Amino acid sequence: MYDYDLLVVGSANADLVIGVERRPGAGETVLGSDLAVHPGGKGANQAVAAARLGARTALLARVGDDAHGRLLLESQRDAGVDTVGVLVGGAPTGVALITVDPSGDNSIVVSPGANGRLAPEDVSAAACLFQSSRVVSAQLEIPLETVVAVVRNLAPDSRFVLNPSPPRPLPSEVLAACDPLIVNEHEAKVILGSSAVGDSPEDWARILLAKGPRSVVVTLGGEGALVASSEGVSRVASVKVDAVDTTGAGDAFTAALATRLGAGESLAEAAAYAARVGAATVTKEGAQASFPTAAEVAAL
Ligand code: ATP
Repeated sequence: MYDYDLLVVGSANADLVIGVERRPGAGETVLGSDLAVHPGGKGANQAVAAARLGARTALLARVGDDAHGRLLLESQRDAGVDTVGVLVGGAPTGVALITVDPSGDNSIVVSPGANGRLAPEDVSAAACLFQSSRVVSAQLEIPLETVVAVVRNLAPDSRFVLNPSPPRPLPSEVLAACDPLIVNEHEAKVILGSSAVGDSPEDWARILLAKGPRSVVVTLGGEGALVASSEGVSRVASVKVDAVDTTGAGDAFTAALATRLGAGESLAEAAAYAARVGAATVTKEGAQASFPTAAEVAAL
């Protein structure tokens, strides 16, 4: 019996957002709106998305001993995430400085801060969380050596899900543990690098699969997704909605897929549910604020 359906290992950032008429060029100063501060970061987002769907969720992350860190801890606890694995101190909380213009285009500067100090030793020290979790998910907003440590600390029967964002080439040890590796088009192309051949997502999925993951999911925005494993490649239909803001759709999709796999669904079934969760997410503004409950997904 596992204590957690999902353990998320990843980043926690404060998103500092200012609306501007025009984003500043080099050496320029522009005036903007009041500052809005939102909890974010791919790890924190995935944990909140999973908990909101009803999964018993824990987060392993690092925040600073500062106001942003406290905001992040509070938002996790409000969503029902167990924060026993959230370490405090070592550097300021990670922040994303975001300017967004009226057309929705943005410029973002990220200071990883404490996320960059989440170390392999922190993973080893959290062994009991790994032993208690049916599924473990990670992203790449923490050091790659920490993700390698995650793979080495998995319990024998647990399942590992990776969204390699922001993308970079991955060691074969990490690729081999992914079940699935979840990528969008951009991430697929970076990971495939010079070995990229073929134009269709089906091609990318097959080539990625040949690199070692046990399964692959390619997300295709409003076009849905596709899943690939030794059983073949199949499309997951998109759910038609009026999209308002796509921020966080990938995080919600990954969290939903991971929890459904943990509940024993097949990859295709879990991806179909995750596509509904992704679709529900894009109907609302924001990231964590837009993640649906299980009841909202059912009503979609
Ligand atoms: P992001 O980085 O913006 O969080 P992503 O690029 O990682 O997202 P997407 O492919 O944009 O991921 O979205 C994930 C899933 O959410 C898609 O596979 C799809 O199922 C769903 N989704 C995204 N956008 C839409 C949309 N406009 N309409 C319906 N479903 C959507």
